Amino acid sequence: MLAKKKISQVKCKRCGRCCVVFDEKNNSWKDCPYLVRYFDGTTFCIIYRHRVGAIVGKNQICKKRVQIKYNYPGCPYNSRYDLHPAYKKD
Ligand code: SF4
Ligand code: SF4
Repeated sequence: MLAKKKISQVKCKRCGRCCVVFDEKNNSWKDCPYLVRYFDGTTFCIIYRHRVGAIVGKNQICKKRVQIKYNYPGCPYNSRYDLHPAYKKD
C-alpha cells in the first residue's frame, strides 16, 4: 500500500488540471478553492491529506485521481476515456 502511494505521487506532475470545479454563476470551470498555484506552474492542494470526500463545489466532492475516469491534458493517469469537459474545445 505504501509503495503504491509513493508511485502515485511520483506520477503526478502537480499541474492541477484535475482540480476543477463547475462555476454555475459563470457557467464555466474554475480552480478548486483548495488549489494553490505557484509561478513555476506547479500546484498544491492545501487539504491534501483530507481531500478525499471533501465538498469542493456544488454537487462535487474530491476523489482520488484513479477514481476519475476523465482524461486531462498531459496527465500520466489518462486512459481510454474522454477529455474532461473543462478542457474540451467547442
Ligand atoms: S491532472 Fe494528472 S498530473 Fe495534473 S495534477 Fe491531476 S493527477 Fe496530477
Ligand atoms: S480538494 Fe481535491 S480537487 Fe481540490 S485542490 Fe485538493 S485534490 Fe484538487
